[in-house]
Amino acid sequence: MDSAVDRYTGQIVDGEQLWYIDPVDKEGYICRGCGVTVNPVSFEAYHKVRPHFKELPSKPHESWCDIEGEERLIVRARKERVTTPAGFPGSFPSKLQLVDEREKVATPGVPMEGKRTSSGGSSSGTTTRKTHTQWAAHTIRPICRTFMNFPNDRDLPLGVPGAYGNSYDEVVRKLASRDIVVYPQKHIFIAPLSWSKPKEISGKTVVELSYGFWANKKLSSPYRLVIDSSSWSAAKKSYVLTELEVSRKEAKERSGAGKKSEKSWVFFVGQQDSTSPSDFVVSDHRLICCLTGEL
Ligand SMILES: [Zn+2]
Repeated sequence: MDSAVDRYTGQIVDGEQLWYIDPVDKEGYICRGCGVTVNPVSFEAYHKVRPHFKELPSKPHESWCDIEGEERLIVRARKERVTTPAGFPGSFPSKLQLVDEREKVATPGVPMEGKRTSSGGSSSGTTTRKTHTQWAAHTIRPICRTFMNFPNDRDLPLGVPGAYGNSYDEVVRKLASRDIVVYPQKHIFIAPLSWSKPKEISGKTVVELSYGFWANKKLSSPYRLVIDSSSWSAAKKSYVLTELEVSRKEAKERSGAGKKSEKSWVFFVGQQDSTSPSDFVVSDHRLICCLTGEL
């Protein structure tokens, strides 16, 4: 499972967040679908794969848990549209809501008023069987996963404060692959990660992307992310750098395996530099993530 619920705060935790949670409480995470305890794995730095959550053999999912159904839905959604006249069959984040991380949130995600909900019996006492069709994400990652997993359903509603658009396909925007473009509106931008290592330049981490201005069949001026981590903890900076490194490795592996269409995509919300428009400054770790696969 890519994500689970923090037993104590009720917040959805993405596997990648385990890179900066120290120490990881092995008993602290429960299934998003049914509330059984799940096992956080691969979070230690030496693993170099993405942390995730696994079912414990001693604690199987409840019979009514819809987590596996969700995984099957994603397999189908990669090939075809899954929205029907009755609506979208799963749950998805429909807005980004950055909250103060010290705040405790009582329920997984932030359920939104007036939306369809389904509920069943309560299970472990720390959670109830309640799924919300639309919920608020606290980082861009669940939004980016939904974008990747449901390529034929990108008309789903999405609101990101300050950004252009009201749906996934309007808010999320791929950077121009062969030119430097000045973007008048804010978006969640996407571009493939380049294979070169990030560089530390005057206290900032500079990450090259593999889109940008081409001359003589060469990428002569790539888009760059300038990550300003000056106000972040060491753990958060290491989390972002670890994800970039793991993603770069994933991209090389997929390419080596002949899967040329699978790239590592960087999703970010950043401020485009007005004098040097190839550069975007990102200064919040919640507004950058990398996912590997076919877009
Ligand atoms: Zn479950």
